[in-house]
Parts: sequence; C-alpha cells; structure tokens
Amino acid sequence: MSSQPSLPPYREFGKLIDTPTKAINFLKTNGILNEEVFCDYGSRMIWTWPPSWKYPKWRCVYSCRCKRSSKAVTTGSYFFNRKANLEAILWVLHGFVARNSLYALSIGNQLDRRTVSQIIFDIYQVMNDDILDEDITLGGPDIIEVQIDESKFGKRKNNRGQRVEGVWVFGMVEKKANGRAGKVFMSIVPDRKADTLIPLIQQYILPGTRVISDCHGPYMRLRNLGFDHIAVNHSIGFATTNNSIGHTNGNELFNTNMIEGMWTAVKHAVPRRHRTVSNCPWKLLEFLWRRKHSNHWTSLLQGLASTEFSTSNNNHYTEDIINNLPTRVPGDYSQYEYQEDNQLVEFVDLPDTYSSDSDSSTESESDNHSEFTPPPAQRRRTN
Ligand SMILES: [Zn+2]
Repeated sequence: MSSQPSLPPYREFGKLIDTPTKAINFLKTNGILNEEVFCDYGSRMIWTWPPSWKYPKWRCVYSCRCKRSSKAVTTGSYFFNRKANLEAILWVLHGFVARNSLYALSIGNQLDRRTVSQIIFDIYQVMNDDILDEDITLGGPDIIEVQIDESKFGKRKNNRGQRVEGVWVFGMVEKKANGRAGKVFMSIVPDRKADTLIPLIQQYILPGTRVISDCHGPYMRLRNLGFDHIAVNHSIGFATTNNSIGHTNGNELFNTNMIEGMWTAVKHAVPRRHRTVSNCPWKLLEFLWRRKHSNHWTSLLQGLASTEFSTSNNNHYTEDIINNLPTRVPGDYSQYEYQEDNQLVEFVDLPDTYSSDSDSSTESESDNHSEFTPPPAQRRRTN
C-alpha cells in the first residue's frame, strides 16, 4: 500500500509536541480533547490553566454545588487516565503508525510494556469504530467481479514446527473495472461449511454480482442464489472458459489471482503468533483499517477525535465488542485445537507484535520468534 505522506518525520513531530503546552495544543488543534466537560452536578466546566500547572484542567464555577470540582483536561478522550504523559502517548501513536515494535516504543519512551500495550490496543477500538458495513460490502457498479476463498492461517504449535494449528479465514475481494483490487472482506470463520460461508456471501456481496471461486462444495449453490457464479477448477490448472464451471459467456479467462495475492498481503499482516481465534480478528481489523485509509496518521487522529471513550477506561474489550467485530463471524470456535488464549486477558498483550514489517511470513517463512527457534523442520503446508 501507499507510503505515509503525512506521517511527520521524528524531528518535525518532536517540535510539534515536545512540551506539555505543545502537546495540549496539538490535541486541541486536532479536536481530540473534548470541548465541553460537565461536572458531576451537570454544570459546564471551564478550561483553567494557571502558569504553574503542567496541563490545564476543567474546573467548575464558584456557585455550583460541586464546590469548584475539577477534572482532567483529557476527560472523555482517548488520553484520559493513562500511565504516561501526553507527549509520550503521542510518540507511541506516531510509532504505531510507523509500525515500530513494542520493544522500541517501550524503550524509546521509557514506558512500561503494559502501558504501551494498552495505548496501542485502544487504537484497535478506534479502528473497530471506523470499519463500517459499507466498507466490507462488495460488488455493485464499477465492479467486474468478487473473488472469494478461504485460507488456513497456520500457526506452529511448538518450536519443533511439527504440528500446525491456526484459524480459517474467509476472504472476498473486489476486482474493479480498472483491473485493480477494490474493497475487501476478511473474517475468521468457525469452519468452511455452507451454513457458515453462504450467509456471509449473501450478506456482504450485492445480488447479481459476478463471483469467482474455486470448486469448494458450498460455492456450487451460489448460482441458484442469484449470483453470476464462476468456479475455477484449480486441479486442471489456470482457468479458462473450458475448465470453469458455471459461466455462460464467450472466451473470457477467469482466475482467482486477486484473492491469492490478497492472502499473501494479509498473512504478512498477521504474524504467526497472532493466528489464533482471539488475536487474528484484531489483526485482520488492522489490515482492513490500514487498507481503507491511504493516510494512516491523519485517519488515526480523526479516529481519536470522533471515538467516544469511556471515563472508566481499561474496560473496552467486552465480550460484546469481540463478538461483534467485523472480522470475527459469530459461531462455535471450539473445534480449533487451541483455545487457551481465547480469553479477554490475552488481549492486553495483543499489540506485542503488531509490527508486521518484521514478519515476512508467507507460508514457509519464519515468524517473529525465529531467533528462538531451530531451523524449520518439515513444516506442513496449511493451505
Ligand atoms: Zn459543578
């Protein structure tokens, strides 16, 4: 994808935010701090910033029953109640967009790993709010076809690399009239059965759209469901009109190259250790988010400004949110071999390797732990 034209270089960014005053102004300019804060008795509070204070505060008027109570300037914002100063948090956000590692962010900002983790993981809430149904609904005008496929995101169980676990991901990608990839749908699925896949296709591909798939059984009913479905028979080789099933017109060539290429990109974005039922949806979410926006820094700042944050903090990742992620189809995931990390507590550690640049994993390549693992023994292909 595109580079980051608007991510300010370190030196420039430092000049923007390197004092508390500048950091506050930066947040204010970008609409990230609430403009109205009310005291517990409902009075509108006033922005107060005596010279001796590091940061401003919201303070209530003299006459209110709250007796001039005050609240943090970050009340109701992403920045509220964190164990780091505003400048450091801003550096972590900057580093997230730049795909710096958790280690680098922690060392570089003198922050506890958990603190950094929490800062970064809360970004996932922003991304979740940002991915709308329309972003993952495919087909329609200007779309030639939608290519669909499932892929096992394999994960080695242990250092020996003998056993493979992982999670099935169902993907769909638009091919636009100009031949380029358009919007994408990506979600973990409990299985590859018709009852799981067909409803997704019906929900997220507009009726009448041409759909290209391989010959996986459940897809064979798509034509009866109103889709212009073409099945490409991979066992025969690349697709032509002669070995495609279901098409009716002319001498067109069909293939699933676009979704194949998409798998490579997505697997690059989901390091092996995150290929679990609990972590994979979040990495897929980040993939969708980064793909949606050409300008991640600006989009992140806008997301921080528009997302509502609870003042209780640290409690965003309820079961409810997880069950409603656009990248996690509801269902019974108990069939997956490893469930031990399928718990909320694990989510705090999720951003540990959100840096996907260091992980060049396509199917046979090493993961982020390669320095701790022996050279790969025979590794089973997982898709
Ligand atoms: Zn008051």
